[in-house]
Amino acid sequence: MRIGYGWDSHEFAKGVPLKIGGVEIEHTHGLAGHSDGDVLLHAVTDALLGAVAAGDIGNYFPPSDPKWKGADSAIFLMEALGKVRDAGWEVCNVDSTLILAAPKIGPVANRIRQRLAELLEISPDEVSVKAKTPEGMGTENAAIAHVVVLLERHEDHKKLEVAAAMLEADNHVDEVVKELIGEVKMPAKERAEKK
Ligand SMILES: [Zn+2]
Repeated sequence: MRIGYGWDSHEFAKGVPLKIGGVEIEHTHGLAGHSDGDVLLHAVTDALLGAVAAGDIGNYFPPSDPKWKGADSAIFLMEALGKVRDAGWEVCNVDSTLILAAPKIGPVANRIRQRLAELLEISPDEVSVKAKTPEGMGTENAAIAHVVVLLERHEDHKKLEVAAAMLEADNHVDEVVKELIGEVKMPAKERAEKK
């Protein structure tokens, strides 16, 4: 099993659509910064990359590259998911916490869970989206996301591992047999000396 952790924050700005977890939410402000500012998808991407020790979102999609301005953050998540699968893992479940003063996440939480589940190709039961307000943190003008993911070995990878273990055991038997045959073929004198 593997665990991954991701964290991200973005500042609220006027005149930008608000996107969280791949869902557009009606609000006076959106999130500025990298790509479409989807703080939750960025944190999920980092959690996936972290779980397979493959760096972070900035390594693959530098915020300085104008190519990613306004980009759909689902692209980043898909890339990270590809790396997870290439390494022989699959996503077990995801848990997340958003910290923001407004808007309220409760009414859209299920839509976000649905979208995340779709992107990660898992069931919405395996995706949790919680939200809190930044009591006493002084981060009223920002949205923050914390995410953990759990990975398990992909079924095909498990079968490969079993096959490799069996092959190794088989080779070991061959070696033992060869050694025994060698001993039998050894002249009696040599055998006695060896003892
Ligand atoms: Zn971000």
